[in-house]
Amino acid sequence: MFSDDLNMIRQKGLHRQIIDRAAPQGRLIEIGGCMLVNFSSNDYLGFASGGVSGAEIREILDEFGFGAGASRLLSGGTLVHGQLEEALARFKGTEGALLFNSGYVANIGVIPALASDECAIFSDELNHASIIDGCRLSRARTVVYRHCDVDDLRARIRSSDAVRKLVVSESIFSMDGDIAPIADLYRLCRAENALLYVDDAHGTGVLGGGRGACAHFGIRDPNDIVQMGTLSKSLGSFGAFVATAAETVEYLVNTVRTLIFSTALPPVLLAGALHSIRRIEGDEKVIEGLWERIRAVHRGLEALGMDKGRSETQIVPLLCEGVSEAMNLSEHLRREGIYAPAIRPPSVQRPRVRLSISAVHSESDVQLLLDALRRYRERGS
Ligand SMILES: *Cc1c(COP(=O)(O)O)cnc(C)c1O
Repeated sequence: MFSDDLNMIRQKGLHRQIIDRAAPQGRLIEIGGCMLVNFSSNDYLGFASGGVSGAEIREILDEFGFGAGASRLLSGGTLVHGQLEEALARFKGTEGALLFNSGYVANIGVIPALASDECAIFSDELNHASIIDGCRLSRARTVVYRHCDVDDLRARIRSSDAVRKLVVSESIFSMDGDIAPIADLYRLCRAENALLYVDDAHGTGVLGGGRGACAHFGIRDPNDIVQMGTLSKSLGSFGAFVATAAETVEYLVNTVRTLIFSTALPPVLLAGALHSIRRIEGDEKVIEGLWERIRAVHRGLEALGMDKGRSETQIVPLLCEGVSEAMNLSEHLRREGIYAPAIRPPSVQRPRVRLSISAVHSESDVQLLLDALRRYRERGS
C-alpha cells in the first residue's frame, strides 16, 4: 500500500530504521554486534543506567506496584508523584511543578492550554517538532521568528493585534547546541505583556549547575515563566514536567488534555528521576565533570578546524555539505569505534553528524573522537 512512498524516501537517501539494543547504553553502546563509544545519547550525566539501584526500585515496586492504573485525576497518582513534583519545584525555584508523560506530550498538551484562539504564539524557527505540533494543536495563530533573534521577535510582537501573546523557545537547541538568550526573551516578554514558555529539555541537568536555563541566566523569579523540562534526558528516566507558579499549575491541571485523558506515569520511573535530582543537588562535581568534557571536545574541534556551527554546549553538530557526506562521516566514526549518527532532513535542514557529550566520557574517549576526526580530515573525504 505504501511501497511507492517508501521508494521515494529511499531514493532521497532519507530512509530510517529503528535500531534496538541487546544491552544497556552508557559510555559504551552495542550497535550491530560492536561495542562503540557512545556519542549519541541525551543521557548527559550517565544516570540512565548508572543511577538508581535495583534495591531502591524494588522498594517502590513493593509499595506501589508497577502500573499507575488510571489518569492522575482519577486514581493514578501516588505519593511518589507528589514528592517528585515538590523536588522539581525546589530544584527549579518555582512555586509548583506538574508531571507529564513525556516531553512530547507536555508540549502538545500545555501549549494549546496556554494559547486559546484569541492568542498569538511566537515560535523560534528551530523549535522542536513537539513544539511545532503543540502550536498546530492550539487554535492560535503561530508566528515564526528568526532563530534567537530578539529584534525580529520584538517587531513581530508589536505588529500583532492578538490580545494574548505566548513566546516559545528551547533553551539549548536540540540539533545545534546553541543557547537561546532566555534573559532577553524574558525581559521582552515582560515589556510586551507576553508569556514566556521555555523548553528546557536539554538545559535541565546541564546549565545553571543542573537547574537549567533560568538559573544559568540568573532569573530571580521564574514563576512568571512556564518552564518545561524532561525526566528523559539528563535525569536518565522517562517523563516530563512543567515548573511555574502555583496558580498556573492549577490551571494546567484543569485544562491540559494530555494530562487529563492519559494514564499517570509508573511510580518506579519517578523514583529514578528523584534519585537523579538528589545526586545533582548533592554534588556540584557531577555537572562540573560534564562541562570539563564539553570544553575539551570544543577545544579539540576548534584546533581541527571542524565546522560546529553555533554550538556552545554538550550538543555539537558536525555540519556537512550533504546527506551522503553526513552518512560517510558517521560511517567513518563507526569504523573508528565511535557511535555518532547522521541527522538528515526533515529533522534538520542542513545534514550533520550530531555529537552529544556526556559526563561519563573519559579523557581517552574524547581523544579517540578527535583522532578519528583528524584522520577523516587527512583522508580528505
Ligand atoms: C527530546 C525533546 C522533547 C521530547 O521529550 P521526550 O521526553 O523525549 O518526549 C521535547 N523538546 C525537546 C527540545 C527535546 O529535545
